[in-house]
Amino acid sequence: MIANPTEIPITDNHIHVDPFNGYGPVQTANSFYNAGGRVMIVPNKPSWTFNNEFDFKKAMDLVIKYTEQINAETNVKAFAVCGVHPAEYSRLLRAGKSHQEGFQLIKNALNYSKELVLEDKAIAIGEVGRPHYPIKEEELKYQNLIMKYAIQLAKDIDSAVQLHTETTTEIEFKEFASIADEIQIKKEKLIKHFSGPYIRKDENFGLTPSLTSNKDVIKKAIKKGNNFLMETDFLDDKTRPGAVLGPKTVPKRTLDFLRKGIFTEEDAYKIHKGNIENIYSIDLNL
Ligand SMILES: [Zn+2]
Repeated sequence: MIANPTEIPITDNHIHVDPFNGYGPVQTANSFYNAGGRVMIVPNKPSWTFNNEFDFKKAMDLVIKYTEQINAETNVKAFAVCGVHPAEYSRLLRAGKSHQEGFQLIKNALNYSKELVLEDKAIAIGEVGRPHYPIKEEELKYQNLIMKYAIQLAKDIDSAVQLHTETTTEIEFKEFASIADEIQIKKEKLIKHFSGPYIRKDENFGLTPSLTSNKDVIKKAIKKGNNFLMETDFLDDKTRPGAVLGPKTVPKRTLDFLRKGIFTEEDAYKIHKGNIENIYSIDLNL
C-alpha cells in the first residue's frame, strides 16, 4: 500500500530532529515520509540539548545542516526555522547574567537568525516568545522585549515568526495581535505554535494557529474552518518519548480524516500547501 495515495504535500509545521538525543534528521524524515508526510518545517533545538549551552549560532547552524541532510538524503522537503527558545533567557539569568547582558546576547543571536532568513537558509524566525512556565515580573518584561525584537526583525525582512508561549487562549491571541499592529507586521505571519483549535477570527484575531495534531483538536478545528497549520512538536528525544506526538502523527491524522470525510481534499490542500506557501512566502513545488 502506498502510504500517501494523494498528491497532497502533507506538512508538519513544527517537528524537531536531534541526532544527539534521538533518531536524527534522516531517520525521522524517513519515518515521516513512510507514513505519508512530505514537508517538514524544523525549528532548531535549544543549545543545552547538544551540550554547548548558549551557543545559539551553533543551534541554528545545526538545524540548517539537518534540513540540508534531509533534502539530500530523503524524499522529504525540509525547511529550517531559526531562533532562540525563551527558556534560553531564563537559563542565562540562572547562569548569572544580568537582564541587560542576557537581552544583548539574545539580540545578537536573533540578528543571526535574520541573516539566515535573508540568505534563504531558513524560512522564518522561531521559536521565540515567552516561557510556558511561570516567571517573575522582571523577567517577563525582558521576555516581552525579546519577543518584540524578534517580531520587529521579521517585519523588517517580511518573514514569518513561530511563537512559543504559555498556553494561549483568546486573551493572549488578542495581545499578540495588538503587538502585530504595533509593529505593523501582517498578523498571519505570526504563527502560534502548539495551539489549540482557535480557528475563527474572533478567537485568534488574525494570527495563524499551528495546531497540536491530536484527534480532538483537529476535529474541533475543522468544524470551524481550514485556516490553520498542523504540527507535532516532536522532540526527537528518546528520554522523553511521550512528551509530544510522534513524527508520523500529521500524515496519519490527515490521511485518516480524508478517508473518513472529516477533511475534504480542498481542506487538506489548504492546510498543507496553500496556508504554508502563503504564510512563509515559499513555493513547495509539490
Ligand atoms: Zn519546539
